[in-house]
Amino acid sequence: MEVLYKSTRSDSTPVKASQAILKGLSEDGGLFVPDHIPVLDKSLSELSKMTYGEVAYEVMKLFLTDFTEEELKACIKNAYDSKFDTEAIAPLVEADGAYFLELFHGATIAFKDMALSILPHLLITSAKKNNVKNEIVILTATSGDTGKAALAGFADVKGTRIIVFYPKDGVSKIQEKQMLTQKGANTHVVGIHGNFDDAQTGVKQLFNDKELAKEMEEAGFQFSSANSINIGRLVPQIVYYVYAYTRLLAEKEIEENEKMNVVVPTGNFGNILAAYYAKNMGLPIGKLICASNDNKVLYDFFKTGVYDKNREFVLTTSPSMDILISSNLERLIYRIAGNDAGKNAKLMNALSGEGRYSITEVMKEELADFYGNFATEAEAAERIRTLYEDCGYIIDTHTAVAAAVYAKYKKDTGDGTKTVIASTASPFKFTRSVMEAIDPKYSSGEDFELVDELAKLGNIAVPGAIEEIRTAPVVHKTVCERTQMKMIVKNFLEIK
Ligand SMILES: *Cc1c(COP(=O)(O)O)cnc(C)c1O
Repeated sequence: MEVLYKSTRSDSTPVKASQAILKGLSEDGGLFVPDHIPVLDKSLSELSKMTYGEVAYEVMKLFLTDFTEEELKACIKNAYDSKFDTEAIAPLVEADGAYFLELFHGATIAFKDMALSILPHLLITSAKKNNVKNEIVILTATSGDTGKAALAGFADVKGTRIIVFYPKDGVSKIQEKQMLTQKGANTHVVGIHGNFDDAQTGVKQLFNDKELAKEMEEAGFQFSSANSINIGRLVPQIVYYVYAYTRLLAEKEIEENEKMNVVVPTGNFGNILAAYYAKNMGLPIGKLICASNDNKVLYDFFKTGVYDKNREFVLTTSPSMDILISSNLERLIYRIAGNDAGKNAKLMNALSGEGRYSITEVMKEELADFYGNFATEAEAAERIRTLYEDCGYIIDTHTAVAAAVYAKYKKDTGDGTKTVIASTASPFKFTRSVMEAIDPKYSSGEDFELVDELAKLGNIAVPGAIEEIRTAPVVHKTVCERTQMKMIVKNFLEIK
């Protein structure tokens, strides 16, 4: 049955999957949601015999119903290949009574690669299907991680170009070097004098610049975004939950239809929403455990039914979770509002107006699948240390938040259900914080010394993504003022 995509904010005409991927966001400012959640049409035991790519096809075909088998299989094949350093793509590692689902074996060693390695292919296929002849130009402002993952995903993908703006003095040295050494003739990285908001505002202005759009069209280009609210990023994230369950089944760690809990370190609510969709597809998931750091808006929301972003923004050692507006939560709100776009739009207006909204008791009852909690900086660091000392297994700072919250959950509930923890980044991506958590004596080391020390302690090889930036030449050198962003874009595209 065909799945169409509707806006969460109005009853405008639903669009096909490929159109939703091309548009990214609905014109009314809402997010695209599937008009129904399809049910898995292969049994769990059949899926347990498949490779990652085969499972990806079985899941994604149900959502991207206007893609042909050939098109979708080609996208999957181009995405989950030797860019990943393991054939399993997303291996499960058991440690201290939980299964860590390692989502960091792609090009930039963080879980964003799971979706950003396939999005470029979904996007150019969507363009072809809708007779878009223009070259697609991805325009992104980044505070670090997403920029690099998008660059790696789009590098050398025919029919696309990517321009990334970042705040020149607002990202870490390692993050900057990762971006500035990016290969691919279709990539362009530019530092701007200003902060992340300046970069973001500048990019939004370029997206809305009618004159520029006209000049681009004449030269055969059009803008698109690799934003995390694109369904082309959400759907590929459902796959690894199905994969994880069916691996447990294949290894006889779980009986068919026995429940599994999942714990997700959460920021924008994309990853955990994918798990919720997997559950709604029929995957036997018990609790969806939502883990926050000190920016615990979601914990408060699950506890009280009030979402309130009016609070201090805390900088933590799990920066990808330092978020006060979890944009993908809107998709869940829409659903618990009975798929009522009017009701959802009212709540979202309250959020942009007063910075808060509260849901009804009836809506709150729909959240019974979720459990929310948070871990402080000290609790997360403690979890890194104890897991290392007890099992020799080293996790990153984001995964540590999840693992610490899981310990609280078990204490609170006594629930012994088999549990998968989404492991969202390699410890090498946050080497300094990880090493300091293991032993404060490491706080004085040089970055790359700590990398070598981490490899020794964990008995793991330094990932290629880190090895590469030790020596790779800087190829992107442009720095500009905010007011020059338009000119930079036109120069790169050779528009006069
Ligand atoms: C993006 C990110 C998260 C948060 O994921 P959401 O889908 O935004 O909730 C967690 N950990 C890491 C390492 C990330 O990069």
